[in-house]
Amino acid sequence: MRKKNYPILVGLLLALSTTAPAAEKAQAFTRADLAAAATLRERALTDATAYALVESLTTEVGPRPAGSPGDQAAVAWAQREMQRLGFANVGTVDAFVPHWVRGEAEFSVLAPFPQSMPTLALGGSVGTGSEGVEADGVMVKDLDALAALPPGAVKDKIVFFSNRMERTRDGSGYGKAVAVRAGGPSAAAALGAAAIVIRSIGTSDSRFPHTGATRYTNAAPRIPALAISNPDADALVRQFESGKPVRLKLRSSSRDLPPVRSASVVGEVPGTDRAGEIVILGAHLDSWDPGVGAIDDGAGVAIMMGVAKLIRELDVKPKRTVRVVLFANEEFGTSGSLAYLAANEAEAPRHVLGFEADFGAGPVWRLASRVNPAQLPVVEQIYHALAPFKLVRGDNEAHGGADLEGLSKLGMPIIEPGLDGTKYFDVHHTANDTLAQVDPQALRQSVAAFAVSVWLGAQYSGTWERVTTEKAPRR
Ligand SMILES: [Zn+2]
Repeated sequence: MRKKNYPILVGLLLALSTTAPAAEKAQAFTRADLAAAATLRERALTDATAYALVESLTTEVGPRPAGSPGDQAAVAWAQREMQRLGFANVGTVDAFVPHWVRGEAEFSVLAPFPQSMPTLALGGSVGTGSEGVEADGVMVKDLDALAALPPGAVKDKIVFFSNRMERTRDGSGYGKAVAVRAGGPSAAAALGAAAIVIRSIGTSDSRFPHTGATRYTNAAPRIPALAISNPDADALVRQFESGKPVRLKLRSSSRDLPPVRSASVVGEVPGTDRAGEIVILGAHLDSWDPGVGAIDDGAGVAIMMGVAKLIRELDVKPKRTVRVVLFANEEFGTSGSLAYLAANEAEAPRHVLGFEADFGAGPVWRLASRVNPAQLPVVEQIYHALAPFKLVRGDNEAHGGADLEGLSKLGMPIIEPGLDGTKYFDVHHTANDTLAQVDPQALRQSVAAFAVSVWLGAQYSGTWERVTTEKAPRR
């Protein structure tokens, strides 16, 4: 009986679900808007602007960690390139950024089987002094395992965190693994440890250690923190598993200099009848220092500038203002986006929709969102306009990136064309983050998918209502 009724019920549900959004469909976008979206998509797939930008940024500026000369050069580069591309209202928003200097780092196993391993200090790590730190090693998997050790177990020892990050397409493995990088030093120091070494938060089997920010609390002494590559971490695990005492030595000349004034760089394609409403396109201008920041986040910078350039070149002007913001210092405390938010406090509600590209060069594989449920049918129509890309339809729990976190917390809706991160953490924060990692075709596809989404977001005939629900925890 139930089975028999099933097709009727399904038919009814289908009819309901297709007619309800269809009413919205008729009005969300005009025919001209959708035609322009198709034009953007076609042009983006052959447009070389984004690749040329990431090539220029990585070649002419190179590494640009917060506070460095490269950071200053990147600010000048971005203003120059925005002017060249014809963006309006090009300007900067000042931000103070930390100025940490990496120096040199060494890591050696002294016993049971002596050998040295390439290493990188975690961003913000204190140095060791020229004599270095030598101590017995204690291996733990993660912060929970550290907390479960008996009292005194790591006193004056070097703690090695062995946990391996999981490879995923959406990057969810990162959030699970990164806690030891951020919180490992202070957690270990609170228990009396002398230093820590972590297995890099990364997925490759190459011998590149991954850096990234660490965060000291004020409750514990600041101890040095280094990362080693996955294959070396495997080798170190084998040394521990030999059952013999493990003796480690590390040295680092990292140090802090006074904070420096830097800036986020802003440029616009002004809107027309809804010019006061801003669709914000965020990426970050800074990078870590071992590589040249091609995938993190030169590609994101290039995608967003490429999108705005293509929209500017359309015969029609966007309804809403499309504003590209290349944030200062995402990597080491997001002081650029915090300063942007502070400088735009009164204007925060005018930021009606956000996009962020900070996850490599693509391709885009999914469309997720975090919008008011009233606008889900609009996202559905954007998804429909993206049909040639055969994207996965994501949920409405998108997190967006770190730089739009503040605006998103204030209720700004986010649409997230998801960049494929399967290989992203192979090179993220390593010396291997170079232009060679950027696939020009994937980058063009990403620009195309973002351009269609941004354009339609700017043209939506209704109101982008604020998001009032609590943010789901990061996946
Ligand atoms: Zn980044």
